Amino acid sequence: MSEEKDNLQCSFCGRSKAETEMMIAGVDAHICDRCVDQAGGILHAELSDKPQTNPLEVAAKPEFDFTPSQIKAHLDEYIIGQEPAKRTLAVAVYNHYKRIGLVPVKDAPEVDKSNIVVVGNTGTGKTLMARTIAKLLNVPFTIVDATVLTEAGYVGEDVESILTRLLQAADYDLNRAQVGIVFIDEIDKIARKGDNPSITRDVSGEGVQQGLLKLLEGSKVNVPPQGGRKHPDQKYIEVDTTNILFIAGGAFIGIEKKINSRLNSSSLGYSKEIRQNIEESEVLSYITPSDLKSFGLIPELIGRMPIVTFMSPLDREALKAILTIPKNALVKQYQHLFHMDEIVLTFEEEVYDYIVGVALEYKLGARGLRSVCEAVLIDHMFDAPGLDAKEIHITKDYAQGQIERSSLRKIN
Ligand code: ADP
Repeated sequence: MSEEKDNLQCSFCGRSKAETEMMIAGVDAHICDRCVDQAGGILHAELSDKPQTNPLEVAAKPEFDFTPSQIKAHLDEYIIGQEPAKRTLAVAVYNHYKRIGLVPVKDAPEVDKSNIVVVGNTGTGKTLMARTIAKLLNVPFTIVDATVLTEAGYVGEDVESILTRLLQAADYDLNRAQVGIVFIDEIDKIARKGDNPSITRDVSGEGVQQGLLKLLEGSKVNVPPQGGRKHPDQKYIEVDTTNILFIAGGAFIGIEKKINSRLNSSSLGYSKEIRQNIEESEVLSYITPSDLKSFGLIPELIGRMPIVTFMSPLDREALKAILTIPKNALVKQYQHLFHMDEIVLTFEEEVYDYIVGVALEYKLGARGLRSVCEAVLIDHMFDAPGLDAKEIHITKDYAQGQIERSSLRKIN
């Protein structure tokens, strides 16, 4: 019996038991420790060469239980005004997630993806809108700046880096990343300059647009998980972009002129009388995808972002509301900060108008409200923690004095 054991041979390399450390028995075969080692190595090398594919064929479906009006109601809590954009986004997002959740039905029409373009000045709430939606839906969200993207081979980031960030936002959970939302900021900055590609073609801008097209149309993309340039030896994660929602934002400065000239030259549609009545601030509401084209986005890309909406410039009233009303309004944030030091912070009503006035005067928009508040409150924030007082009341005179002494004066 023991002699028989000693005569055992590895069925793979033929070594006898005496020549090995260990022999493992299978059905009618044996394998030695060396062959196990070697087989393990081959397996490891083979697997790591392949892109890691999604183990589940279908991307994870987010738990989605909102109607468009519920989505809009949620947006209302955080974003002031911008009614048309809220409605458009609520519907687009609802349809998108309904589409993902669709149970495949034989012969049912395939519902196309509806990526969105939001046109509006900087600081009007475009990013806030996209971020708020992503939070509500509990899906991974990332913001990328289109201006840092370049064609492969140029200095800058490859288009695939967008997906790397989304993966990071999803903690590398591929299924979650594949239903995430990407906000591409400053999409207008990669527009081709001018309307005639043969004369004033901006080659790099168009190359990036072509790259984005690939992501937007829904394809499987090999993504370097840690970012950086693509490299032949690098391992990739294959990300399917079919169910990723892309929301692109841009200021498209001067687009009103394009809209105006389209409205004026169109033989059908708006009569002259109606056109003359379009207020300057209203022009944006007539935006169509074709206006983006005349601004320099390639038609294929526009075709992949069929929903275009706009954010209105923020007037005095809107800025005041932004300062005080939303759930995380700036004033509420500062009050909370002082509350942590057990101090009640209050403002004289005129202070709000004053802060808005300064933000407008310095052309800082909504983004500037924070800089102004900071300048007004900096001294109190510095002194408050050691203070005996339990209440701080900010008067307009005090706010004015603070601003006059602050570095904000130097902006203009
Ligand atoms: P954009 O992406 O259009 O440049 P953001 O969304 O980044 O602008 O807005 C900058 C900041 O201004 C936001 O964090 C928010 O505090 C404030 N803000 C801008 N627009 C609004 C709005 N309509 N409602 C509430 N807050 C706003």
